Amino acid sequence: MENFKFEVDEDGIAVVTFDVPGRSMNTITAGVMKELPEIVNRIKTDAAIKGAVIQSGKASGFCAGADLGEMGSNAAQSTASAEERLRAAFDGSYAMNKVLRSLETCGKPVACALEGLALGGGLEIALATHYRVAADNPKIQFGLPEAKVGLLPGAGGTQRLPRLIGVQNAAMMILQGMSKNPSEAKALGFIHEVVEPGQTLRAAKKWLKGTPDAVQPWDKKGYRVKDGPYSPGGGMAFVGGNAVLMKQSYGNYPAQKHIMSCLYEGIQVPMDAALRIESRYFVKTLQTPQARAMIRSLFLSMQELSKGANRPEGFPKYEIKKVAVIGAGFMGAGVAYVQAMAGIETVLLDTTIEGAEKGKAYSRKLLDKRVARGQMTQEKADATLALIKTTTSYDDVKGADFVIEAVFENREIKADVTKKAEAQLAAGAVFGSNTSTLPITGLAEASVRPENFIGVHFFSPVDKMGLVELILGKKTSQETVAKAIDYVLKIKKTPIVVNDSRGFYTSRIVGTFIGEGLAMLGEGVKPAIIENIGKMAGMPVGPLSLNDEVALDLSWKIREQTKKDLGAAYKATPIDGIIEKMVVDLQRHGRKNGKGFYDYPAEGKKKLWSGITDLVPTKIAECPPDLKAELIKRILYIQSLETARCFEEGILTSARDADIGSILGWGFAPYTGGTASLIDGVGVKKFVEECDALAAKYGDRFKPNALLREMAEKGETFYTRFGGEKVKQAA
Ligand code: NAD
Repeated sequence: MENFKFEVDEDGIAVVTFDVPGRSMNTITAGVMKELPEIVNRIKTDAAIKGAVIQSGKASGFCAGADLGEMGSNAAQSTASAEERLRAAFDGSYAMNKVLRSLETCGKPVACALEGLALGGGLEIALATHYRVAADNPKIQFGLPEAKVGLLPGAGGTQRLPRLIGVQNAAMMILQGMSKNPSEAKALGFIHEVVEPGQTLRAAKKWLKGTPDAVQPWDKKGYRVKDGPYSPGGGMAFVGGNAVLMKQSYGNYPAQKHIMSCLYEGIQVPMDAALRIESRYFVKTLQTPQARAMIRSLFLSMQELSKGANRPEGFPKYEIKKVAVIGAGFMGAGVAYVQAMAGIETVLLDTTIEGAEKGKAYSRKLLDKRVARGQMTQEKADATLALIKTTTSYDDVKGADFVIEAVFENREIKADVTKKAEAQLAAGAVFGSNTSTLPITGLAEASVRPENFIGVHFFSPVDKMGLVELILGKKTSQETVAKAIDYVLKIKKTPIVVNDSRGFYTSRIVGTFIGEGLAMLGEGVKPAIIENIGKMAGMPVGPLSLNDEVALDLSWKIREQTKKDLGAAYKATPIDGIIEKMVVDLQRHGRKNGKGFYDYPAEGKKKLWSGITDLVPTKIAECPPDLKAELIKRILYIQSLETARCFEEGILTSARDADIGSILGWGFAPYTGGTASLIDGVGVKKFVEECDALAAKYGDRFKPNALLREMAEKGETFYTRFGGEKVKQAA
């Protein structure tokens, strides 16, 4: 056996050590699946074996679950017919359920010693043993995160977990892909014992040498699940649970519906039948375009980009010890915090020391919260805060390996700051601008070393948002790209790389989302309908709400600047006047001054501002299904269409970066797999036809570009044309 070591000790206890060769973490590969039945058979049939403990040979943990990479590439390479694929998928999925079922009914007691994390299939193996011992370490995670990539736990997780901790608790954990640490897991009831790290094997053996029970609770006579469908708790779980689910996901995620079905149907029948039900729903889920798109984007692409897939080769790793952040406002303060958390010595510079200190106070607030929640010791928090040095002097920038400029969105101020900082920098240091809209090539004109100049676009709030959009100016060197990727990985964010233009990729597409909401407003669609449509489409918030968050005065200023820059080429929209009225006449600037499209009372929830309908009278106050479908389509298609234009203009060169940028950057409907995957999912040809129809009805902004028409003609997809390669710099 390659993936397991099998030893029997002098007490007749088989110690099975799970250790997939050549990997830092165990995953359930095809090889593992092949060997598992052999292991179960040996435990069952070898008379010398009294019981078994399964443990991991990896320091990193027990097992991180199924090998989604293998699963994805098998599906991609399969030439079988749909029916054959379906049968193979069921057989594959049910094989795991069958072997784990034979493990728990082998007649001998089996324990699992968990020194580290057990996620997905890893936890499902553990749940199929009779006794689980975990090391006492709050960082260890136990959970079933499949729903996060559009799947459901398919190795018994939807059946064993509710039987152990109740339907309500299990539904919460599985639907949200939530994990628990050992003491939480013990309190919930799916871990039996928590012991000192390093002692789990000993504790498991001790249990085995006592009077261990080799029968699972659900295989005993008279077993009843705590809150099955016909109990009061079950009513809450199923009726309330389904309602909450619809409210949160609007039915966009088949996996979530299937998880509820597995729980409802499976919990009422004996385990053998329950596992067959789960396997059927697992396969059904796996076949959905949503699952395929989510696995590719949210698992495979995320993993690749988080490892620096776009990093140009041939440059040594850039050691980043000191970084200067210029501008200690909203963004600069957040950047300083994530840097200090990554152990980077940070200089925080502003025009006044009070301004710089205010920026540092943001880190103090977040660190205090961590200490209060028991996530960090006071000493560690103090040491982290001490990494941030506030200043007004450029002398302190000396010795910095990297600079992040986060001053006002103003070309002159940015140019001045660039010159002053560069005067202090060593030859190889990188200058990154956090501008959200201004083209990088233009900003780099202020630089004497434009090859070391790059856009480093963070998202707010910086401490929560995982994406950083790196923007290449015309002269940005490949070495600078490599260094910037090293910087982003060091602060534990995910980098995408794009070429230069106004608004780059992310701000530009977000603009179309907000713009389409405003266009609907201009047409007289009731504001509440617009907001709900946004959420039903799968966006985290409605377009009017998002416009309030980014600030209406900022939208207005950007429109004014764009008008100035584009001159006669600027295309005015009917909504321009409405925004100007809101900002200039009514001083409604968005959430930041407590009034925008919404009112923000000091107490209580925000509410749509009743005055909007005086500015734009409502003409469409009801939303029948056909209209709803069309409005949802407009919200999603306008963003994907603009993404296609970014590809045509060479701003984007990778489908992977487009997808991840959209989901991490502004929460673009994750079930689609991202802006590029949406078009591939619909089919380029159909997408073009539907956009043509929308253009005829709503205007040229929906006209498909030449690239899309060409792709439709050639039968291409974004992943066949722009897949898998490193980002190319614009010529
Ligand atoms: P902000 O107004 O909160 O902060 C700007 C800070 O820069 C202020 O503290 C100001 O005192 C300081 N500053 C101004 N001139 C300076 C100078 N000459 N030298 C040193 N410091 C100076 O603005 P913000 O929202 O943090 O935005 C900063 C940059 O980040 C802008 O380019 C913006 O477009 C970009 N950005 C903002 C967001 C966002 O959501 N707010 C998101 C991404 C990028």
